[in-house]
Amino acid sequence: MARIELSNLAHSYLSRPQDRADYALKQMTHVWEEGGAYALLGPSGCGKTTLLNIISGLLVPTQGQVLFDGRDVTHDSPELRNIAQVFQFPVIYDSMSVYDNLAFPLRNRKFPAAEVDRRVRDVAEMLELTDRLKRRAENLTADMKQKISLGRGLVRPDVNAILFDEPLTVIDPHLKWLLRGQLKQLHKEFNHTMVYVTHDQTEALTFADKVVVMYEGEVVQIGTPEELFEKPAHTFVGYFIGSPGMNVLDCHVEGNRAYVGDHQMTLPRGHSLPEAGGKQVQLGVRPEFVTVTGPDQGMPARLERIDDVGRYRIAKLTLAGQQVAAILPEGSEVPSDTAGVSFDPARLHLYVDGHLSEGR
Ligand code: ATP
Repeated sequence: MARIELSNLAHSYLSRPQDRADYALKQMTHVWEEGGAYALLGPSGCGKTTLLNIISGLLVPTQGQVLFDGRDVTHDSPELRNIAQVFQFPVIYDSMSVYDNLAFPLRNRKFPAAEVDRRVRDVAEMLELTDRLKRRAENLTADMKQKISLGRGLVRPDVNAILFDEPLTVIDPHLKWLLRGQLKQLHKEFNHTMVYVTHDQTEALTFADKVVVMYEGEVVQIGTPEELFEKPAHTFVGYFIGSPGMNVLDCHVEGNRAYVGDHQMTLPRGHSLPEAGGKQVQLGVRPEFVTVTGPDQGMPARLERIDDVGRYRIAKLTLAGQQVAAILPEGSEVPSDTAGVSFDPARLHLYVDGHLSEGR
């Protein structure tokens, strides 16, 4: 297991990049701890695969270094980096049995037969493949084949890291749910450094100790699922994590008060607004912390519609010309068209040009 360090890393697919916009990965420096389970989360095109390929050695970055436990591996091939990789589609030998497929990475590295057997059986048990160990891989379903791929990635104890590139994309939704849990369990058991690329927030939040949120070629926040929910460092994180995402409202600030249109609210202590002149200032509040009342309380808002998503209802309102979503508590009355809204003052966040400005 290795600690992975990205030092001043940047990448452009152009031979002569001119400015920031030409970089698929903007400059970044991060340390990912040994034995950590990291998820790289972000929308399509934000640079997740580019970053994973740089870590695996499939791509040499335009600038900066990748270090494993302090050793510069930037120009090392994937084989030299001693990593395991699991891709979207199964990479297995159809003509071999499930057992031999799982044993292959260990035998290839000359592990003693007893250890091969023990590890193959451990991994097979966790992935519920034990009763299929003797079967030829080609006769199995696509789901099963992908499980074998996962097993092949997980079976070696001596890898520096295991990299997963959207490994559950082709998996049936129910099995996906089970596998997410099993992967988490396997991580606890074997304690590998794992990096898991996904654009699915549920997958990232269930798998990872730390979620690395990417947006337009930058890492905008690294945090635990709780930190991303409680204190999104960027409006994008607030919007991307959560269902529905955080409300982001244009506002202006005077002292410790924020104004959305004519409506004013007091900001929590510790909020500050350094040199906001000319910059876009926004207020963030999650739908969980918006209360909808009758028109005689709170700020007057217009109820546009209510979406019933099964577990709860979401009210969509307009406040001073801006959209606000609120999660309605179970059993609460349906508000009338002219409603009132209020925000939990302790749950307000202030953003300047997209970045959280509090706590400085
Ligand atoms: P997805 O979830 O769709 O796979 P991603 O977050 O993994 O997206 P990347 O595939 O890393 O994003 O792409 C980042 C940016 O780099 C995108 O703008 C993409 O178009 C561009 N890009 C990726 N691969 C190449 C390439 N081989 N040549 C040129 N541009 C590329």
